[in-house]
Amino acid sequence: MTFLSVQGIGKRYGATVALEGVDLNMSGGSRTAIVGPSGSGKTTLLRIIAGFETPDAGRVTLDGQVLAEGPSTVAAHLRGIGVVTQDGALFPHLSVADNIGFGLDPSAPSRDKRILELMDTVELDRKMLDRRPHEISGGQQQRVALARALARQPKLMLLDEPFSALDTGLRESTRKAVAEVLRAAGITTMLVTHDQVEALSFADQVAILREGRLVQAGSPRELYLTPKDPGTAVFIGDAIIMPAKLEDGWALCNLGRIAADTGQRRGAAEIMLRPEQVRLAPSLPEAQANDADPSACYGQVTDVEFGGAVCMVTLSLLSSPDAPLLRIRSSSIDLPNVGTYVKITVLGKAHVFDLRPSSSVSVR
Ligand code: ADP
Repeated sequence: MTFLSVQGIGKRYGATVALEGVDLNMSGGSRTAIVGPSGSGKTTLLRIIAGFETPDAGRVTLDGQVLAEGPSTVAAHLRGIGVVTQDGALFPHLSVADNIGFGLDPSAPSRDKRILELMDTVELDRKMLDRRPHEISGGQQQRVALARALARQPKLMLLDEPFSALDTGLRESTRKAVAEVLRAAGITTMLVTHDQVEALSFADQVAILREGRLVQAGSPRELYLTPKDPGTAVFIGDAIIMPAKLEDGWALCNLGRIAADTGQRRGAAEIMLRPEQVRLAPSLPEAQANDADPSACYGQVTDVEFGGAVCMVTLSLLSSPDAPLLRIRSSSIDLPNVGTYVKITVLGKAHVFDLRPSSSVSVR
């Protein structure tokens, strides 16, 4: 059932349209990630839901209560919404304990016990209790910020790029820990991030904003495998996009005849593969001429960028020498050498865009 509903939200700052006609629903206990390039309206949407900004149009409803409808709005502190921002926004002069307990009744006898419980929940060592924010690490500060937001038992948690100031390793472990805490507590959570990998791994619904509009919302798998348009495809991950001619269940393209979700579509189209669908096997220059399958695809390696676990191999296609070069991610095991020949096979199906074709082959 819908717990948070955002309907037709619009917001302008002077001539700048920050949001237009944004509709989004979240069910109770779910996690949604809002992704989009810088300036696409992510923070504005989060601030409208939190009650820090008033929308010009549209309605926000949480758990059956209308929080904002045009200019009429419920005050932020009355919404039951917790917010954790990029810098944690801790009070520098207060101890960890007082930061966490900030929203708790100072005279409540259970206050100290509750603070300790919250520290345990976010896996903060109780020894940190009397430290000031500058005496703990960035990851620990974010846990304090989360504990402070949890203290008020919010109905909805809003996370605004909360991990972006952390180093890669700490970022991943903090993200996992935070996701686990919120999942265990059953709190509906919205995460704003510009990091696609973070969005795909954190959320059960990902919503993509572009220039103030919601382009697509769906499960991480849906967005990754069946993006609505090429722009969404390359925003959410590396993609090989090329023109094709569709037959029943097949796409004829520069990579040969490959399986595709054609549905009722036939004729010219634009298709997408994720690079991990493409496999390379060592071959010989004469292999294509000797192959009984006329649609088999062969290439010659023109460049190899060694990147450790994941390497980038650039290929020219023997059957279409004028086609743009193909860039494929490959494991460092069995990495082909420049100048050698490879047979190219495609795993799974190509995704067909519901758009007119272009003539490009690209990978981001
Ligand atoms: P994002 O979080 O995706 O980077 P924002 O929501 O911060 O995007 O901004 C969306 C657009 O609205 C941008 O063009 C930004 O410059 C503009 N904007 C945001 N806040 C304000 C403000 N307070 N005053 C004027 N323009 C703003």
